Amino acid sequence: MTQPTVDEVIGLIRERGGRASRAGRKVIESLTAAAGDHRTAEEVADEVRRHSPDIHPATIYRNLERLEALGVAYHTHLGHGPAQWHLVAGAHPHLTCERCGHVIEAPVGAFDALRSSLWQSTGFRVDLRHFALTGTCAACVAQER
Ligand SMILES: [Zn+2]
Ligand SMILES: [Zn+2]
Ligand SMILES: [Zn+2]
Repeated sequence: MTQPTVDEVIGLIRERGGRASRAGRKVIESLTAAAGDHRTAEEVADEVRRHSPDIHPATIYRNLERLEALGVAYHTHLGHGPAQWHLVAGAHPHLTCERCGHVIEAPVGAFDALRSSLWQSTGFRVDLRHFALTGTCAACVAQER
């Protein structure tokens, strides 16, 4: 999974007419450092505040929302519990095991056939980023046997 650099993300924000404040930059640093895994808004806030305790959590949450509005970051629900945050660069669908809670990152094109068949039959455009698909992971299936 290739993560963009902080400067690349800030370049994208400027291209889209946004601005990156100091708090915004810290939030992006935290999401970039997550390298393929995910962070809740609270984890992002904790991490930013470890280095910059003067930045208020509400400012950090507002920055996450602003990044989402600009299409630079997004939140995803992997199961029960708080949403996880991701940079849009390197976005992928998630599979969550309902037995053990294990989260698998699905290949980006894994649902292309499903997406286009639904689009053709219903005109519905599926968003596979917002929620994870749930099921049973290979290890839990093996235990059932
Ligand atoms: Zn992920
Ligand atoms: Zn499992
Ligand atoms: Zn949501």
